[in-house]
Amino acid sequence: MSSVKSGKSWIRQPIVVVLGHVDHGKTTLLDKIRGTAVAKKEPGEITQHVGASIVPASVLRKVAEPLKKYFPKLKIEIPGLLFVDTPGHELFSNLRRRGGSVADIAILVVDIMEGFQPQTWESIQILKERKVPFIVAANKIDRIPGWKPNHDQPFLETIRKQDPRIVSRLEELIYRLISQLYEAGFMAERFDRVKDFRTTVAIVPVSAKTGEGVPELLALLTGLVQRFMKKRLVTSEEPAKGVVLEVKEEPGLGTTIDVIIYDGVIRRGDTIVVGGKDKPIVTKVRALLMPRPLQDMRAHEGKFVSVEQVVAATGVKISAPDLDNALAGSPIFVVPSEDKIEEYIKIVKEEIESVRIKTDNIGVVVKADTLGTLEAVVEALKRENIPVRLADVGPVSKNDVLEASVSKNHRPEYGVIIAFNVKILPEAEEYAARENVKIFRHNVIYKLIEDYIGWVKQLREQEKIKELESLIRPGKIRILPGYIFRRSNPAIVGVEVIGGVIKPGYPLMRKDGMRLGTIMQIRDRDNVLKEARAGQSVAISIRGRILVGRHVDEGDILYTDIPKQHVHLWLTKYKNELSDDEKMVLKEIIEIKKKQDPFYGLVFGS
Ligand code: GDP
Repeated sequence: MSSVKSGKSWIRQPIVVVLGHVDHGKTTLLDKIRGTAVAKKEPGEITQHVGASIVPASVLRKVAEPLKKYFPKLKIEIPGLLFVDTPGHELFSNLRRRGGSVADIAILVVDIMEGFQPQTWESIQILKERKVPFIVAANKIDRIPGWKPNHDQPFLETIRKQDPRIVSRLEELIYRLISQLYEAGFMAERFDRVKDFRTTVAIVPVSAKTGEGVPELLALLTGLVQRFMKKRLVTSEEPAKGVVLEVKEEPGLGTTIDVIIYDGVIRRGDTIVVGGKDKPIVTKVRALLMPRPLQDMRAHEGKFVSVEQVVAATGVKISAPDLDNALAGSPIFVVPSEDKIEEYIKIVKEEIESVRIKTDNIGVVVKADTLGTLEAVVEALKRENIPVRLADVGPVSKNDVLEASVSKNHRPEYGVIIAFNVKILPEAEEYAARENVKIFRHNVIYKLIEDYIGWVKQLREQEKIKELESLIRPGKIRILPGYIFRRSNPAIVGVEVIGGVIKPGYPLMRKDGMRLGTIMQIRDRDNVLKEARAGQSVAISIRGRILVGRHVDEGDILYTDIPKQHVHLWLTKYKNELSDDEKMVLKEIIEIKKKQDPFYGLVFGS
């Protein structure tokens, strides 16, 4: 660790994250980069941090050496690149910083054979939201049939040694990525053809397996941050700022936090403020821990060595009292002096409150494992216009179910809990079952949202069916001469359905609009029917004040008596649910009813 003199400022390592769809090669690529760093570093250089790895400047220089003829101007000015070890957007979410990210730049890994997949789109969305620039690693070029691998060579070298057929296949695949990136709102181009890196995303063809293209990937990251981000990378001997990546129990140490420091210096004994589940935690650094270099590994000494101080950018484990309730994704600050503690508590509190949601609105309840993932889930819900009633970190509790059931009473589709990577407490599980509150769980954000949206669609479909079932449909019948079985109480007559449909429960009216009574039962000889449609002749019983021979007679035409609200729905929401003969009958019914009520069947705005 370089020690820092008073007032000194320096350019720190840019913080790099790797994102992309599952199985597209994020882990393999990070392993390859780490392997390169270890193999090419100078003796004594440390590449491993807690939760992160460094590719030192010395390694970047060696890797860039064979690229000299392509990029003669590349000079390494940064002290190296700091890669966050765990890829994927769950951890990336925790690198949150108000209005952005602690990550300076990202590598979006795309399997060139597969192109964009759901998590690729989601990664781009998150990068956009957090305003993090990125380059695309078009991975697995070695899987193009016929590819001849040239281990660890620059892409521009290995491509010259490939068959022209393979080269044109590669071009096709890159072109697909270019158009998918265009769809996502970005101009993109193969890296060696990019004219302006501020407006165009660079695509670097690589193989994480053979190492081909990795030299360009590292050189490009370096070149881009040096050209466009130097200001952002300047840091000085100020009290440190960082973010909590993970909260971890360590044997013999208790609860520790793994932190990425992106600004300033942190020393043993410093007072820090960090976000907690209930309120910000103020504590003193007991130990700053870095991974013990492999060659020093002795069984009894543990995995970590304690250091006096670390400087940005770094990944470090902090051991301190009272960290049990610390929140991953929360900011961490070294407090410059005791009288500033309250000020920092306020900053941390505001930052955390900006993510948590607690309202009386009708909306879903969200629970997530960390502040970062909570923010990411809430953002994903917002994109889908799904309102949120409550959003918090921690397991699903009985109170969450209670909150969800309040929403459920108003809007069933919002009466749910969306749980990302958290436990459900047993009493909450029971209560949810009793209250019929659905809990959606997943540890992939887009899957979680997809599951919920799918369920809402189903629910809407069911509601529609239920509402449709409850509507009285148009029907027109004629009383058959010679088929009066009973004149009243109930009247039983034979009828022919001329148009539309009749069902038990449907009220009937005469041609002049007079209500006659309600159909009790429909029979075809000995069979009781649920409905009768145009063309069928059946016997029906009619309950109500009806006397055959007085109110109606043989040969008379009757219609279903459709309430005004039902007609309105038939003419608007369910226009397409009526058959042609039902539509004709409906027209006739409207003509009859209009004589009594001029507004019947009138739809405003149509
Ligand atoms: P992640 O889920 O994105 O971290 O993907 P992994 O790094 O675990 O890779 C998924 C699979 O793809 C593994 O079987 C890797 O060995 C394989 N893989 C990754 N990169 C490459 C590559 O460049 N070439 C080939 N042939 N296979 C690769």
